[in-house]
Amino acid sequence: METWLVTGGAGFIGSAFLRLLRARRPQLRLVNLDLLSYAADLRRLKDLQEGAGYRFVQGDVCDRRLLDALFAQEDFRCVVHFAAQSHVDRSIGDGAEFFRTNTLGTQQLLEAARRAWGPGAGRRRFLLVSTDEVYGALGAEGRFTEDSPLRPNSPYAASKAGADLAALAFCRTHGFPALVTRCCNNFGPLQHGEKLLPTLCRHAAAGRALPLYGSGEQVREWIHVSDHCRGLLLCLEHGQPGRPYNLGSGLELSNRRVASLVLEEAGLPAELLVHVQDRPGHAFRYALDHGRAAGELGFAPEHSGLDQLRSTIRDYLRAPS
Ligand code: NAD
Repeated sequence: METWLVTGGAGFIGSAFLRLLRARRPQLRLVNLDLLSYAADLRRLKDLQEGAGYRFVQGDVCDRRLLDALFAQEDFRCVVHFAAQSHVDRSIGDGAEFFRTNTLGTQQLLEAARRAWGPGAGRRRFLLVSTDEVYGALGAEGRFTEDSPLRPNSPYAASKAGADLAALAFCRTHGFPALVTRCCNNFGPLQHGEKLLPTLCRHAAAGRALPLYGSGEQVREWIHVSDHCRGLLLCLEHGQPGRPYNLGSGLELSNRRVASLVLEEAGLPAELLVHVQDRPGHAFRYALDHGRAAGELGFAPEHSGLDQLRSTIRDYLRAPS
């Protein structure tokens, strides 16, 4: 039985990926390594039963001894690395935990895998789940390609850029089979309540004002978490190590538009939008050209339209997180 390691599998996207694997690759044995930080939620994993096909390990990706022991116990064919500190606002408050987990944790995991797999890694793959935020900000026009320079704005984005570059450097230096995907903003079920969409919906459900940073004109590209996860699987199957892949959707919306959709779905007036002091270093626009993933991986988002976003909003309004 082939075994895959998923880190951060109790998080929003990692848990969706585990559920996708369980449905699409039932023959795989899955090991989930997660620290169970404040952002984890084991309810996301209620359909995965501990047993022959699934093992949960509570632990830190920075703990090298734990990683070495895990790689000695298990013969991982793939590592899919989600574990991270993921909330930009927290990274602005104090970035230390972001650089420890996101940058150094990735380096520790790369090193543990490289040593365990040796020079002939063969068909083994290590996938780093990176982000569009590594590119920094765009103006009103254009899209980031994989050749765009990395110019991260926030400490979160910088810590992810460090991880992203480390994975690519491991390919060049060691011939290590690392894949890197850079995805845009995810929406979907069971996201942590501190993120934009659940926050707006929680406020709307309570009839409270919806807070918007600055002008609210910042533009983000939104993808359904299931499309992101399908893109990751395609990348593991068809991606070329050392070659990053953008995973986007084309659904670009300003934060103000997202908040307006929430108000519309809640049947509330536009006056409930309130502008609060802007986030320092707030990037104006992110947008991805995902032509490489479309052409080389066959990636095509299926659930990332306005209808699916509205449907997710309705779910959060019914059951605020
Ligand atoms: P999340 O915050 O919901 O989940 C992160 C998970 O990692 C949690 O379960 C947490 O307990 C775990 N974790 C944190 N520190 C750890 C450590 N030191 N050791 C082991 N586990 C640890 O995050 P998410 O939104 O699911 O994002 C997952 C990944 O996808 C991240 O790497 C993020 O950078 C990337 N990403 C997210 C988005 C998005 O829109 N959310 C977009 C692009 C890329």
